[in-house]
Amino acid sequence: MPAVDEILEANERYAAGFSKGDLAAPPARRFAVVTCMDARLDPAKYAGLSEGDAHVIRNAGGVVTDDALRSLVISHWLLGTQEAFVIGHTGCGMETFTDDQLRQKLADEAGADASRVDFHAFPDVHASVAGSVARIRDSDLLPDSFAARGFVYDVRTGRLEEVA
Ligand SMILES: [Zn+2]
Repeated sequence: MPAVDEILEANERYAAGFSKGDLAAPPARRFAVVTCMDARLDPAKYAGLSEGDAHVIRNAGGVVTDDALRSLVISHWLLGTQEAFVIGHTGCGMETFTDDQLRQKLADEAGADASRVDFHAFPDVHASVAGSVARIRDSDLLPDSFAARGFVYDVRTGRLEEVA
């Protein structure tokens, strides 16, 4: 079955039992999660989230990029979140290449110039998470009261470990 049909079939089941049409847009638990897009990670499950609980911002690597920061600023100032959790993971694909290698691949295989694109690849997930937490703490677009903590999710055990 094509993926789109699988999605629509699953959505039909979801909507048939749907009872959360009255949720408010501001996250009820007043926090945001920044995490990797890796298919093995399900923030709703590993962090116990339900619809309406939290903002989940995902990208390759769970990196606090300019765009992730944009979302956090909106999350805090317009929708009331008070803290963020940055959650990387073991075995992250972002540790397996460099930005220059990916730029070369795009040049070789697609004739594309990605020289101005920052892919935010990193050699060490712990350092990346720590850097992202620091980026939130240091941002002058978020108040000092906006807290940030970092974790690494272990894809083998499902466990979160805090990054000091
Ligand atoms: Zn990843």
